[in-house]
Amino acid sequence: MAFCAAPVHAQALQDIQVSTSEIAQDLEYLSSDELAGRRTGEPGIEKAASYVEEKLKSFGVQPYFKTFRDNFEVNSTEAYNIVGWLEGSDEDLKDEYVIIGAHYDHIGTGKEVDGDVIANGANDNAAGTVAVMELARQLAEKGGNGRSIIFALFSAEEMGLKGSAHLAEKLKNQGIDLYAMINMEMIGVPMKAKDYEAYVTGYEKSNLAEKFNEYSGGEKVLGFLPQAKQLSLFQRSDNYPFYKQFKIPAQTISTFDFSNYDYYHHVDDESENLDPAHMAQLIEKLVPGLYKMTTTPEKEIKMTE
Ligand SMILES: [Zn+2]
Repeated sequence: MAFCAAPVHAQALQDIQVSTSEIAQDLEYLSSDELAGRRTGEPGIEKAASYVEEKLKSFGVQPYFKTFRDNFEVNSTEAYNIVGWLEGSDEDLKDEYVIIGAHYDHIGTGKEVDGDVIANGANDNAAGTVAVMELARQLAEKGGNGRSIIFALFSAEEMGLKGSAHLAEKLKNQGIDLYAMINMEMIGVPMKAKDYEAYVTGYEKSNLAEKFNEYSGGEKVLGFLPQAKQLSLFQRSDNYPFYKQFKIPAQTISTFDFSNYDYYHHVDDESENLDPAHMAQLIEKLVPGLYKMTTTPEKEIKMTE
């Protein structure tokens, strides 16, 4: 236990190894035709949910509620988020929470191309789902996260951020001490000609990127993408309901830059068009910053506007 109490530097975490083939395997399954585009309320998304639950369980992540499922209704259809929990190791910090999330639903079908109508949603957002699962594996294996971490996979994002809105409201009503929320969206292909690995939405609203890069040993992991601001991406994914409820840093990490992927909500958004090696590398680079967010004595990441 003495090891856990000692300050851990980002350098000590740089032996984090993410397996590209595991990433590819998860990605392939979650975006396979068998799951039929993971539309909320349909059988395909149930298979995705079971897959995610089994994975989290196998990493030693506990259900946050009675089970991993956080049920809600959308347009009189039954839907559920998957919510897991890794208890903090520090008595003084464990009642503070960091949420790492992604939506796991997609739109089901899209405009037909060559007889294909299944919108597989590989980049949007099997990629984010896989990232959250892998981060759960890495952080659970590592242990020593001072603050508690919630891993949340949201349903019904494509129906208007319904799953995240449901969970944010529920956690707010339960009085949870939420420090920050990090959402993963469309990280399946690398950005071109950028001096950072991924951009963060709402960049100027908090010091998240600055602190995160500092926690990553000075590496420029997170950066600013002008289009993210122009298109108000801050308000367009599952981070936003958490910001609205808690007014805390709640931001999305993405590598979709509007020029590097042609298949947004397209039936060709399939796993073979993604780059699992890039994903593995990005996830490796996110672990030290996320880990450090759970161990600083003070909540150093704050809103700036
Ligand atoms: Zn999405």
